[in-house]
Amino acid sequence: MIPISKPFIGEEEKAAVLAVLSCGMLAQGPKVKELEEMFCFASGAKYAIATTNGTSALHAALYAAGIKAGDEVITTPFTFVASANPILMQGAKVIFADIDETSFNLSPSAAEEKFTEKTAAIIPIDLYGLPFDEKTNSTAKKAGIKIIEDACQSIGAKRNGISCGCLGDAAAFSLYATKNIMCAEGGMVTTNSEEIAESARRFRHHGQSEKTSYEYFELGYNYRMTDVLAAIAVEQMKRLERIVNARNENAKRLTEGLQGINGVVLPSVPENVTHAFHQYTIRITPDAKASRDVFVQKMKEAGIGVGVYYPRPLHLHPHFSKMGYKKGDFPVSERIAGEVASLPVHPQLLQDDITAIIGAARKILS
Ligand SMILES: *Cc1c(COP(=O)(O)O)cnc(C)c1O
Repeated sequence: MIPISKPFIGEEEKAAVLAVLSCGMLAQGPKVKELEEMFCFASGAKYAIATTNGTSALHAALYAAGIKAGDEVITTPFTFVASANPILMQGAKVIFADIDETSFNLSPSAAEEKFTEKTAAIIPIDLYGLPFDEKTNSTAKKAGIKIIEDACQSIGAKRNGISCGCLGDAAAFSLYATKNIMCAEGGMVTTNSEEIAESARRFRHHGQSEKTSYEYFELGYNYRMTDVLAAIAVEQMKRLERIVNARNENAKRLTEGLQGINGVVLPSVPENVTHAFHQYTIRITPDAKASRDVFVQKMKEAGIGVGVYYPRPLHLHPHFSKMGYKKGDFPVSERIAGEVASLPVHPQLLQDDITAIIGAARKILS
């Protein structure tokens, strides 16, 4: 079986965890600080604040950016539920806007149509590792709306030479086991704003400043990362460039091998962008020889793990349809959810694996 993702744990990770266990300082400590510095270096952000996971990182970023009850926050329904839930955690309202079918990311014009007096922020997602559309920045800026980048899938990606994590007012990364850089569970806020950074730091630490103790300034949570897990992520970060290059190299080979199949749309990478290729996602349109679901099933039978991210847009789940959303509200997201299929692209693929993926896909679709 060629799996859709495969976490890599080297001898370095094992040794680093053992070293933390032996030193006895297990909770947030010097390893977390080292990891935060590595994220600053990698993303170009001035500040990085480690948290328990990507969801808590988004929550802390929204809190620190001042998002509160009564605000409206725009995001797309074509994402993981954790892009939207932190909006609700802040008591704000989730306003969905449709995606662009080529980038799978928030359509800047669809977002702009949703602007109201109450719009406080936009959460564009760097879906599959592709930075969100730069027009989102200009429309948000004009309207005085903050951007909280969901960079959970895009570590190492860039737009116009600027790294994901620095494309908005603040960003959130995930270090979940299947992400490009991982430590089982973890998250990171990045920002260039000292105010947002300080606020996020207090938020992860029960509302306490890290400079004084047992002095509570505001509501906070326990969102701290442990040194045990940070030690894993530090070793992973040392390989960031190699990981991004390997994923791009694999994506290039897949694209060369899958060119020209009727009804199949391959990922396109804009010229000004470095893709992180968290996922290599193709579209199996109605013109293709097999349906998306048959394709996924047959690939599995051929021993190839194919992922569907995401089979149903958020607005069609009970959690959000309760808020009044219904079928037909976001036609592009609804159509694309029935067409996407992600092929393995991770750095542990061998040349033979890629040949096998291309061969199996061509057999099913030609
Ligand atoms: C993984 C992910 C999250 C949440 O991260 P966790 O670490 O699982 O909490 C949020 N948004 C997107 C787009 C993700 O892929």
